[in-house]
This record gives sequence, structure tokens and C-alpha cells, in this order.
Amino acid sequence: MTKKLRSATRLVHQGIDRDPATGAATVPVYLASTYHHNEGRPGQYDYARSGNPSRQQVEDAIALLEGGVRGFAYSSGMAAIGGALALLQSGDHLIAPDDLYGGSHRYLSTVLPQQGIEVDMIDMTDLDRLEATIRPETRAIFLETPSNPLFKIIDIAAVASLARERGLLTMIDNTFMTPLLQRPLDLGIDIVIHSATKFLGGHSDLLAGLVTTADEEIADRIYAFQNTFGCGLAPFDSFLLSRGIKTLKVRLEAAQAGTGILVERLLEHPAVSRVYYPGLAGFPGRDLHLRQAQGAGAVFSFDLKERKSVRKLLETVRLPIIAPSLGGVETILTHCWSMSHAAVPVADKERLGIRETLVRISTGIEDPEDLWEDLEAGLS
Ligand code: PLP
Repeated sequence: MTKKLRSATRLVHQGIDRDPATGAATVPVYLASTYHHNEGRPGQYDYARSGNPSRQQVEDAIALLEGGVRGFAYSSGMAAIGGALALLQSGDHLIAPDDLYGGSHRYLSTVLPQQGIEVDMIDMTDLDRLEATIRPETRAIFLETPSNPLFKIIDIAAVASLARERGLLTMIDNTFMTPLLQRPLDLGIDIVIHSATKFLGGHSDLLAGLVTTADEEIADRIYAFQNTFGCGLAPFDSFLLSRGIKTLKVRLEAAQAGTGILVERLLEHPAVSRVYYPGLAGFPGRDLHLRQAQGAGAVFSFDLKERKSVRKLLETVRLPIIAPSLGGVETILTHCWSMSHAAVPVADKERLGIRETLVRISTGIEDPEDLWEDLEAGLS
């Protein structure tokens, strides 16, 4: 299908918009582990770990949506991150932001060092610091922007261009923005990663991860690991993910509009000391963010003035799910300290400003007035 279609159409039709074998309006869930070799020769599919029609649909979809040449679907966002990081080898050095998602922080600070890969996690909003951290063994730069939960903004094009000059690979976790709001391959990044568990799936009913790249050689290497390691997304979950992707635009636009209402009201609330959202006037990095992305998204954080208000809020609100996730049709409220960033050591959280009073909200598509009344009751 042509890449010239507009985003809403691309999301609905994706790369494969009906079953090639039967014309069915959705690609069926192909529950088969292996595929017949006709006259002794394999067809398009051979063995389900290596590829299958259900997984192919979401793999083609992410490549189409991000402008990649090929996509890869995994059993979780963390598996996708592992799939991209498998390009590194012992002796390599990786640079990443210091306020990464907690699970990625754990991967980079425990798994990679055990594999002989050194990691420096730095404030990547400071490009001089980034340049000074590059050394002869540096092989790749990992980014996440906006960062989570403090919404620091990294200059994607500047990092990509520095990396190109120095012969380094770049990979970005684009979960918070989705390809609808931010397309890092267009800005020169090599590999884009998603936890599709979040906005792409959109209904808090599956775990999934996606990776894509615009470079055929990188794609071949990512595929070799995905096929060998066997962490591909299962057929039924591929079906759910493809279904979720179709409605991304309407969901994300509604959730982003609701977010705009909630953040403006929280800014004025006496129990709140600070709101973190790149859509807010005067927010650090806002102009840069809006240059490299088409919107500020549907996730924000805020700090409460008092610790005891956190408990009251968590005990009082009725609409949000209180949980460590984001990107669902229902609003999700996360106490980052004890949930999404539980894996980050306390000293690091304190240094980064992830306080016990910090709350993150992923706005769902409920009526924002109902959400506000619920939040207000929890904050009073
Ligand atoms: N990246 C980000 C930004 C996340 O928020 C998460 C999960 O919360 C992940 C990656 C990991 O994804 P998953 O939970 O699907 O493994």
C-alpha cells in the first residue's frame, strides 16, 4: 500500500488490510506453529517463530507508520528493547538518558553490564555532556523523549546528527508519542522501539513490543536475533494489537484534548506544587518538543505539596485504574516512586527529582469533566 496515505487512513488500513488468502476484513488469528512445504519447498511462511501472517500484519504496520523498511513484533516492550540492544556486543559502550523508564533502567544497569557492555546514563538534554561522554568503544545512543515521568525533552535530530558524525547507532523508545505524534526515523534515528502495550494497543488488554528501522542491514540483524531468540508476538496478541492500532488517532486525540483540560486545572489547584507536561506554556523544552512532535501527548505528571495528599488521592479516586501503565482508553494513575520506577534505586530517584509526592496520569477517553470531578475530590 502507498505510503502517501494520511495518518488516519494508514492506521486503519495498515500494511495488510484484509486476509490475502480469503479477503476476510481482518487478518485471522493464524494458530499454527508450522507451515506445509508444498512440493518440498517452503512458502512465504515456514515456522511460526520465524514469521506468521498474524505477526506480519503488525510488523508491516509499524514499518509503514514510522517510515521503516521492516518491522518486528515482540512479546513485550521490554523484549523489543532487548531485541534492539542485542545489536551490541561485549566491549561496547552505550549512552542513555538518566531518567529512563524503570524497566529499561534495570535492563541497562544490570543485564548489559553482565554481558560486558558498559553504560553511561546522563542528562541527555545537555548535548555537550553527551559529546563528552562518547569514547572510542561507544557503539550506540539510546533515547527516550519526552522522558518519563519528568518530561525532559531531548533534541532528537541533534543527537542523530552527532551520532552519524561519530559512526554511532541511535535507538529511541517512542512509546509515549507513538508514530502519530513523533516519527524519529524522519529525524535521522536508526531504530525506533515501542511498548505497544501502551497507546498502540490502547485497551490495557495485551503486552506487546515493536521495533522498526529504515536500514536494511540493521533490519537483517534485528530479524536474525528475533528469529533465533524466539520472543516474537503471538498470533492472538498480534490480532489485538492490529485492532488497537486502527483507532489510535481517535483515541489519542480525545485523550490529548482531555489532558489539556486536566493540566490547566491542576496548575491552579492549591494542593499541587508543579505540573509536568510539554504542552504547557513556559514548560522547559516545550518549543523543541513541538518542533519535533505533532502534539504533547496524553500523559503528564504532577507533584503534590504534601506526602499525605498522595495516599488520600490514591484512596479516593474512583475512575482511574491505579497501576503502573499508560496509554489505555481508561485513565491510569501511577505513583511512579512505588510503581513504574520501583526498579530505580532510591538515591537515583531522589537525584532525578522523582519524589514520593509525584503522580503520573495517562488520560483515557472518558469525559474530562468526570475525570476532573473525581481528581478534585481526591485532592480536596
Ligand atoms: N518503554 C516505556 C516508555 C514504558 O513505559 C514501558 C512500560 O511501562 C516499557 C518500555 C516496557 O514495555 P512493556 O511493559 O510492554 O514490556
